[in-house]
Amino acid sequence: MLILTAKDVRSVVDSKKAFDAVHAGFLQIAAGNILPFERHQLNAGTDRALMGLMPVSDNEEDGPWALKVVLVGRENRAQGLDSHQGFLLLADGRTGEPIALIEASSITALRTAAASAVATKALVVSEPKRIAILGGGTQARSHADAMRSLYPAAELVVWARSNGIEIAETLGATYAATVADAVKNAEVICTVTGANTPILYAGHVSPGTHINAVGASRPTAREIAGDLVAISKLVVDSRAQAETECGELLLARSENAIPVDHPAIELHSILSNSHPGRVNEQDITLFKSLGIAAEDLALGKEVLKQARELGIGVSVETGN
Ligand code: NDP
Repeated sequence: MLILTAKDVRSVVDSKKAFDAVHAGFLQIAAGNILPFERHQLNAGTDRALMGLMPVSDNEEDGPWALKVVLVGRENRAQGLDSHQGFLLLADGRTGEPIALIEASSITALRTAAASAVATKALVVSEPKRIAILGGGTQARSHADAMRSLYPAAELVVWARSNGIEIAETLGATYAATVADAVKNAEVICTVTGANTPILYAGHVSPGTHINAVGASRPTAREIAGDLVAISKLVVDSRAQAETECGELLLARSENAIPVDHPAIELHSILSNSHPGRVNEQDITLFKSLGIAAEDLALGKEVLKQARELGIGVSVETGN
């Protein structure tokens, strides 16, 4: 089994390679090759890290099983740690033998930003000149990298609840003191905060904007207000997961901001041309990212391929 650290991951894939891998992963979903399973979020008490279990089977010939065990520490940022920790296991699809154990904080950061980049490329009206990032943690950094890799000429604008000036400087971005200032004239908005209640409302957003809403992933939490969901074309990574986890959808429904049958289009169906995606330049498109195991699988496979080619990682014997 090959063991790969965060440093190994970052030495073999950058935002561009992550984009290609995650894009290919969504096409594999569309082709019916990926069998998803329900993800489990385990809460063992308020002073304990949350544990997420994300299994997925790659049913292509010789495709692996993958399981991401992700642990989210509640006070990690204060200690200078990434909020998300854990490992991604890739195992032989037939025998179950472990193939690779890959550090998951780096995978999560890269694949989530790559999914937002893939959605952005599919849904923007035209090449954006201004991209707003709301949030200042790990995902803000990976989204800044991914957006810059995709649109090098665009101005990045950052708003963060604390230390905004410092974070914007670190990211080489323009600092905005308020959400409204950050999103003004932005053609693309990425919300990557730990907020549980809305930070972005309909009044903030101009027609034609594309939004990647990344932060909330529980049915009781949301970054995007119901009035904005109501006027947006909603795109999700997984409709099944959205029905159980997506606060943006479920809370907007419960307050009657949207009807029960408000459509949620799956990103893979747009990428595979089964659905037109954006049809009108005035549409506001909203990609609600919950994060799916197929993204981890897609990036994990690419990391493993590159690491093998470059002879990176530590190989250990796991059998008798
Ligand atoms: P970090 O802890 O590194 O950063 C969180 C950021 O959000 C910080 O800037 C923090 O500010 C800010 N924040 C927290 N609460 C609020 C609030 N109420 N209002 C405004 N800003 C707030 O987390 P990550 O960057 O790793 O993750 C960001 C979000 O994305 C999380 O909700 C996480 O669960 C989610 N996520 C989603 C994934 C997906 O696939 N969709 C994958 C991974 C993460 P401060 O410094 O002041 O605390």
